[in-house]
Amino acid sequence: MQDANFVHGLLDFIQRSPTPFHAVQTMGEILEEAGFSRLTETEQWGHLQVGQRCFVTRNDSSLIAFGVHQPLPEHGIRMVGAHTDSPCLRVKPNPEIIAQNYLQLGVEVYGGALLNPWFDRDLSLAGRVSFLSESNNIEHQLINLEKAVAVIPSLAIHLDRNANDQRMINKQTDLPPVLMNLPDSSADTEIHFNTLLLDMVNAQLTATQPERAKAVKVLDYELSFYDVQAPALIGLNDDFIASARLDNLLSCYAGLMALLGHQGDENVLLVCNDHEEVGSVSTAGAQGTFLKSVLTRLCANEVCASDEQVSRMLAASLMISVDNAHAIHPNFADKHEPNHGPVINQGPVIKINANQRYASNSETSALFRHLCDSVDVPVQAFVVRSDMGCGSTIGPITANLLGVRTVDVGVPTLAMHSIRELAGRLDVFYLYRVLEQYFS
Ligand SMILES: [Zn+2]
Repeated sequence: MQDANFVHGLLDFIQRSPTPFHAVQTMGEILEEAGFSRLTETEQWGHLQVGQRCFVTRNDSSLIAFGVHQPLPEHGIRMVGAHTDSPCLRVKPNPEIIAQNYLQLGVEVYGGALLNPWFDRDLSLAGRVSFLSESNNIEHQLINLEKAVAVIPSLAIHLDRNANDQRMINKQTDLPPVLMNLPDSSADTEIHFNTLLLDMVNAQLTATQPERAKAVKVLDYELSFYDVQAPALIGLNDDFIASARLDNLLSCYAGLMALLGHQGDENVLLVCNDHEEVGSVSTAGAQGTFLKSVLTRLCANEVCASDEQVSRMLAASLMISVDNAHAIHPNFADKHEPNHGPVINQGPVIKINANQRYASNSETSALFRHLCDSVDVPVQAFVVRSDMGCGSTIGPITANLLGVRTVDVGVPTLAMHSIRELAGRLDVFYLYRVLEQYFS
């Protein structure tokens, strides 16, 4: 695949994926188009044949795709891990706030969002809605309003002269987005978000699946706001990609494209987990049972069966955990360790931490370095300053749960966890080429 095709595919993927649910739906569509079969966790998998390429989802927000071509205990499986979620503002269960002739919605902050950039952006709403249908079934539907429906206006500087020096953000009182002007702000103005949502769900059903039974009552939802500004190439020479959710949809996409390009007879697997930004402890998160369950079931078919064989498979496997790395910021260079400041467009970054906040060790890092060398991709290293705390990711969690050798890597990124992050167009393609080489 060419650099330009890859980058435009990535921008399109991110645009189609405003939430983890949409990311998994988009990846599922791409996989089915490429000939992967969709499995469900409730069916029997005993019929899986060597050579078959499949995928399975959990909670509609995590996905595992794989191709098994050789006996697993002898050959292990080459895995790539990433995460589908990004920090955002999530709508509360009883969200209606009516104040000063405005309808606002109460929001919870999901993950470690950088909140300042959320002000004065054109926001839309997307996520999963569960409803009672006309046929009296509980059904679920993804919705994406696409159009800007909300905004969090800043307080003008004239009303807060210290705004540039010391403005703080109160997550409870400062963030509720404004959605509507109301003619009357009296206490008896009644607006129910679920009623508005019911219309949105039915409009979405009519537009996309007119044959489906309509919704009669909204039972629950997981909806979040997102910025409608499309991902873009920016810079005088288009050096940069500016977009929401680069952490970590770019890694999901690079892993997915590498998996689709896989031609050889190695066993390969891509896992994209939800809930990394909130600690990974959930049914769909990396700390849940999803990956372990899938690997055990792959071993439970005719290819291999016993506990010992599962252990042999894991011992022969490797995980490349891909999650964005902090690029050195030209205006804040002293936030980086002087010898370990990853630069944008100079290659993927191996993340190292002596205290095991990252799972890389000298053996797995060496393998990754060698992979990069073999396709002429530059590679960088990151350690946090010794006087600062270190972040973490799904790498150590997976290494711990499965006992599988792991290396933590990622594309250098600026403004991580902002509503609009910045990565390098060369780096995302470099990452794809290394993962493609790894799988083949
Ligand atoms: Zn991340």
